[in-house]
Amino acid sequence: MKSIKVTEPFKIEICDVEKPEIRTGKEVLVKVKAAGVCGSDMHIYHGTSPVATYPRVIGHEVVGIVEEIGEDVSKIKSGDHVIVDPVVSCGKCYACKIGRQNVCSSLKVRGVHEDGGYREFMVVPEDSLHVLSKDLPWEEAVMIEPFTIGAQVCSRGELTKDDTVFIMGAGPVGQCVLQVAKKIGAKCIISDLTESRLEKARKLGADLVINAGIEDVKEIIMKETNNEGVPVVIDAVCTTASFENAFDYVTTAGRILVLGLNKKPSQIAQLNIMAKELDVRGSRLHNNKFPEVVKWFNNREIVAKDMISHVFQFTDIYKAIELIENSSIENQKVILKFDY
Ligand SMILES: [Zn+2]
Ligand SMILES: [Zn+2]
Repeated sequence: MKSIKVTEPFKIEICDVEKPEIRTGKEVLVKVKAAGVCGSDMHIYHGTSPVATYPRVIGHEVVGIVEEIGEDVSKIKSGDHVIVDPVVSCGKCYACKIGRQNVCSSLKVRGVHEDGGYREFMVVPEDSLHVLSKDLPWEEAVMIEPFTIGAQVCSRGELTKDDTVFIMGAGPVGQCVLQVAKKIGAKCIISDLTESRLEKARKLGADLVINAGIEDVKEIIMKETNNEGVPVVIDAVCTTASFENAFDYVTTAGRILVLGLNKKPSQIAQLNIMAKELDVRGSRLHNNKFPEVVKWFNNREIVAKDMISHVFQFTDIYKAIELIENSSIENQKVILKFDY
């Protein structure tokens, strides 16, 4: 079978490898059907992921069909359509014990620390699989994983229907956060530099969009909130400056949610955090959000097909990357499909 490996930064190979086999009773053999290309896959390709190791079969947004099950598997059956949870945790450390296995002290993420889903078959423990409705198109099912990121950040922000949230960045992650926040019933303000992304955000239900390139973000936020600022700011821009700016938009006793992988420090005065008694919280991957998000997709409460802009055969990975790297081509979410 074929697999796509990043052997070192800027080097991707399509390799012929042995088809994996079930080795323990709890494992499941999945024939991969589709996988998303995420910003973090591009970080691994560019050598800018602070966590990935090489060589690596990338891909953590993975759906497929169950081809074979181990003898002790009870929740999954052959022919099931499934999505793979990328989080692998130890179950024993402090974080795991308090139910936050997404930040396990020895966390492994499929496609980052261990091999992921850009391959024709993968073997996964049954507990890492969630069953999808069979009429959910493969490409769309891939979007479940990015929506778990949105669900996680809203839950970390303790977002409620009575809150106003300011989402910085209307790219694919920002759009997922927006849809989850609207589902919760919060008032959503979203910013970006790209007009077409803001247009998209409007269609997805944003209450107010701000073009941060030409408008005064702080002035608008303050005007919208009686000079208070918003209770929840979600930074999906993830630059040193966007993190600093978030402190200008948040109200006292508010929450700032951090999604970035940036290693460069931002300059934040302690007084800001103390005086407003702010909660500055990281949000990583997801903590048991798959059951809920899978339900939204299976029930069509969230329809994500409009977020997908390009679909490539996985063997056309070079073309897919070229398109993503070409900033003149507008792309939303790019999906790889595996022969169907
Ligand atoms: Zn991702
Ligand atoms: Zn752990």
